[in-house]
Parts: sequence; structure tokens; C-alpha cells
Amino acid sequence: MALTGLQIFKLMPKTNCKECGHPTCLAFSMALASSKIALDACPHVSDEARDTLGTASAPPVAKIVFGAGTKTREMGDEVVLFRHDKQFFHPTCLAIAISDDLDDECFTARLSEINALSFERVGETVAIDGVALVNKSGVPDVFAKRASQIAAAAFAPVLVSDSPEALAKAAEVCAAEKPLLCGANESNWEAVAALAKEKNCPLVVSADSLADLSALAEKVGGITKNIVLGVRSETPVQKLAELTQIRRQAIRKKARHLGYPSFVSVCGGDLYDQAAEASVYISKYASIVMLDTTDKASLLPLCALRQNLFSDPQKPAQVEPGVFPIGAADEKSPVYITTNFSLTYYTVEGELSSAKIPCWLIAAPTDGTSVLTAWAAGKFTADKIAEFIEELKLSEKFPHKTMIIPGYVASLKAGIEEKAGWKVMIGPNEASGIPAFAKANSGNA
Ligand code: SF4
Repeated sequence: MALTGLQIFKLMPKTNCKECGHPTCLAFSMALASSKIALDACPHVSDEARDTLGTASAPPVAKIVFGAGTKTREMGDEVVLFRHDKQFFHPTCLAIAISDDLDDECFTARLSEINALSFERVGETVAIDGVALVNKSGVPDVFAKRASQIAAAAFAPVLVSDSPEALAKAAEVCAAEKPLLCGANESNWEAVAALAKEKNCPLVVSADSLADLSALAEKVGGITKNIVLGVRSETPVQKLAELTQIRRQAIRKKARHLGYPSFVSVCGGDLYDQAAEASVYISKYASIVMLDTTDKASLLPLCALRQNLFSDPQKPAQVEPGVFPIGAADEKSPVYITTNFSLTYYTVEGELSSAKIPCWLIAAPTDGTSVLTAWAAGKFTADKIAEFIEELKLSEKFPHKTMIIPGYVASLKAGIEEKAGWKVMIGPNEASGIPAFAKANSGNA
């Protein structure tokens, strides 16, 4: 049961020294009770009080780690229900299922497909996180053999089986990779929890209802606290409700037995239904989602959704302002301008690259806002663009002194021509119109 601010205050030094950044010990206690600060921020708290305050100072959702080295993935450690309250910190992991009963050729081919699931988006590499080996064969030795193969895969291993013997054999061969063991239930939890503790691996605990899950997590918690809560209700609506309750109970009620990351599977059925279902669980509040599709058209949107959700809502994603070549551009190549909002910049950059006509792209300094937002906020104006041209000495770099501006801000043309002395061409409104525009105007700029 979580402590209130006043209960915490009774255990504090009460010197009001302000070293924690709060004006009083009472203010610190209130912040600690609502998980807005860590206990370590007070250097004067006694060991005795630290023991008592363990529950209050622990994150409402425990941080659980699986995988090793560059494949390490962290889950949980979230402190808010809504992204705009602060930030979601640990992106939902995506794990792709692979069955251990495939023949050698099919297994290798499937593993190669999974290993290739990595994409470039807005200047970042986005990829899946785990390979989930599913013990469909029911044979422990087969499961262990396949586990040794996925241990060498590009992503962190997840071992899925109800059999303690199969999990033990598989965990043995890839223990160094710190797999996520997925298989504790009401009938096998003691053996599987002991295995997870022995191997120092996180464990997915599953039950049919939230009440049963909480009770099972309490029992397993007596052996290991390295727990992930498996949600396995029948319908997507039930799963969503359960995931939401787990997060709500952990954060609002400090329910310790539900204060763990969550696991959900969307395997089976139509691949686009899987993607739609997974998108719901990424949004609320799964820590890891297991899918059985390797379809890039399904997975890239999920990676993009995750990338957008798990960013700091206070800080727009932006690129460094400057002028960048696309292809073998030289001083005679056309010059396009856009803002330094990452999504805008990389969308324009992608379209310019696909046109295969060498050119330059100016990312104007607009604090990471899009074209129309920046224009409305007075950050993408003729004066600002002229200043940036001057600052980068672009008139010396490009003797043709011609630039192409986004169609939505065509009204800037006269101002830029007057202030910067450059000729301005009006480009298309949407980035998708750039290749046709570039080809039609090749040689004009
Ligand atoms: Fe109180 Fe500790 Fe903060 Fe000092 S650092 S004001 S003792 S809570």
C-alpha cells in the first residue's frame, strides 16, 4: 500500500535544507508520494527511513530488462497515464513469433525475414525488438535447439512455452542473451518462477482475469520480482480494458502486484487485423506485443506510431538547421527550402531523393515546427529566410541565387526576392508533388 505525503513526511529529516530542490521536506514528501521525484534526491534520509519508504519511492511500474548487449530492451518504468502529463519513456517492444516446429529450411528463411525488419524513418533507425520462439512442437529438445539459433539473431530472445522443462532447456542454451521467459501460469508457476530466478531472466506471468493475474503475480513475486504481466483475455476490447486497468491501478492506486510491464499477443488471423490490434495496444499500454507477421507494410506503421508516441511531447523532433546536398549536387543544382521539423524535412528529403535529380535542401531554423505552423508563428518569414541565407553565405555558394519554396507559403515569394535578392520559384503544396515538379523544372534553377 502506498504511503501518503504526510506519512512520508514523518520519516523525513525535517531540516528544510532545500538540497533536494524543494523548499521544504513536506513539499518533497508530497512530490515523492506522487512519484514526481526519487527518494535519492534527498541525501539526508536515514537508512531506516529508506527501508520503510522503499514502496513509496519505487517507480509505480517496475523497470524490467531483457536481452543483452546491443539487443538489450527495457520495459516499464512509466510514471504517467497520459503522454501529455510528462512523457512515455520505454517504447513498446515488438517481438515476432517463430515456431520451433518449422523444418530447418523454413526456420532459417523465417529467421532471415525477421532479422531484416529494420527501417529508416525521419533520420532514425526503427526496428522490431525481439524474436519470440514458440514451443509448438511440444518437444523440449527441439525447443532448445531452435533457441540456440535465435540466440544468434539480431534481436532479443523471447521463449514461449508452458512447459518448465522446455523453458529450462532453452534458457540454458541462450542464458547469456537474457531471454524473456513467457510461460508462468496457475499450474506451473512455482517451477517456472524458480527457473527465472536461477537464470536471472524476466518472466511473463499470465492468468485469465485481472484478479487472478494480480493474485498470481503476488505469489510469483515471493520468488522473483522480475515479472511481466501477460494479458490473455479473449477479445481486443477485453485486452485493452485489462491493459488500461493494469496501468491505472499501478499508477493511480500504487497496486504493487500490478506494478509491472505488460505482455500481449496478437498472433493469428489476418495480418492487417494484427497490425490494427497491435496499434491499439501500443497506444494503451502494452510494454511488449508479440505478432506473427513479417509484413513490412504492417510493421513500419507500427514502428512509426511507437516512435511518435514515445517521444517528449514538449520537444518537437527537429534536424540541425543548415543546407544539405541530395545526390551529387553542385553549385548549379536547384535549392529547395523547408523547415527543420524532422517529419517535414525527411518527407521532403525522401521525395527529392526519389526524383533522382541532384539538388540542395535548406532546413530553416523554425524550432522544429512544420511549414504552416512556422509561418503562422512568424518563424518562417521572408525576413527570417533572408537572415538565414546571409548567415550561411548562400549567395556565394549558389551563384544562380534561386530557391524553391513550399507552395503553401507562396505569399513569401515577393518578400524573399526583395530582402534576399534571390529569385523564388513556387513549389508544390505537398511533398508528394516534388518529383513531378523537379522533373518538369529541371534546368530552370
Ligand atoms: Fe528535507 Fe531532504 Fe529536501 Fe533537505 S534534501 S529539504 S532534508 S527532503
